[in-house]
Amino acid sequence: MDNRLAAIETPELALSIVIPIYNEEGNIERLHRELSEALGEIGREYEVIAINDGSHDRSYELLNAAQARDARWQVIHFRRNFGQTAAMAAGFDAARGEIVVTIDADLQNDPRDIKRLLDKFDEGYDIVSGWRQDRKEPFFLRRLPSMIANSLISRSTGIRLHDYGCTLKAYHFDVAKGVQLYGELHRFIPALARQMGVRVAEVPVKDRARHWGSSKYGISRTFKVVLDLIVVVFILSYFNRPLYVFGAAGFLVGGIGTLLGAYLTVFKLLTENKIGDRPLLQLAALLMVLGVQFVSTGIVADMIMRTYHESQRKPIYFIRERRRTQAKGETGEPERV
Ligand code: UDP
Ligand code: MG
Repeated sequence: MDNRLAAIETPELALSIVIPIYNEEGNIERLHRELSEALGEIGREYEVIAINDGSHDRSYELLNAAQARDARWQVIHFRRNFGQTAAMAAGFDAARGEIVVTIDADLQNDPRDIKRLLDKFDEGYDIVSGWRQDRKEPFFLRRLPSMIANSLISRSTGIRLHDYGCTLKAYHFDVAKGVQLYGELHRFIPALARQMGVRVAEVPVKDRARHWGSSKYGISRTFKVVLDLIVVVFILSYFNRPLYVFGAAGFLVGGIGTLLGAYLTVFKLLTENKIGDRPLLQLAALLMVLGVQFVSTGIVADMIMRTYHESQRKPIYFIRERRRTQAKGETGEPERV
């Protein structure tokens, strides 16, 4: 998000529901019905943003019909299939709600669980993640890979969640607007948002069998998740000043190389032994070159970060709340920015 103080974006209503949809014709009617019921009970002002991710079944017509019946629905049709992450990103861009809830279209999530997320959210969290404690999917193809992925992501990103893969999650407006998504990164949003300084909680939610149709993913997703994880860890650790990380490694390695070189020099001068055939000499030279390379990589990475921040006017800070007293006698009510 452009969180620069000059361009503050603020939510306009209580709740946005974001739903990625790819060939879900058999689910849309029931989705609309269950959502309307559940959201009616919650009683907050809401909008539903359905993103049709290039479906080639009747999802297009059915979504338009739902939108025509229900003014709270907004439908975005992609030109082609861009993937679930892109669909969610479009939903986040369009969302106007203070809380943005993402949910799958296949009704594996129960819309009635949205209330549980919101209750937790109101305790003061920025992200509340659904946790499918009792999953209905096959163990070896689905649950085991997902258990491994969850523990890997938790350990390496420092945001410990049992169920990164559960789409049913609630995000604060700022988080939805702030995370930069691409590839298949949607499952990493809580981890990516760590750099914003978010408070994250988990709530157990129901897992149901897919109402209609079949999953859009196979086992190959696991490899993408692992590759994405590397990128996420990189982003998290090198974010602001990559030079500090690369520079430290460079000084360490280069320092050891220099010490070894110094030792060999002194050794040669004092004892008049030959050092030309010593493996230690090669190691010293290698470490010194490596040290210089680390530092220069750090400088280049630092320049790239500078371009990133300045070209897109990205802030290097994120604000939770801003209080000030307005000039013309307005109250100093807290204002979320
Ligand atoms: N989805 C999408 N674009 C895609 C693949 C999936 O918008 O390219 C949607 C899909 O319609 C569903 C959600 O993302 O609403 C999750 O997909 P799926 O149920 O196939 O995933 P699984 O539950 O097997 O993880
Ligand atoms: Mg599903």
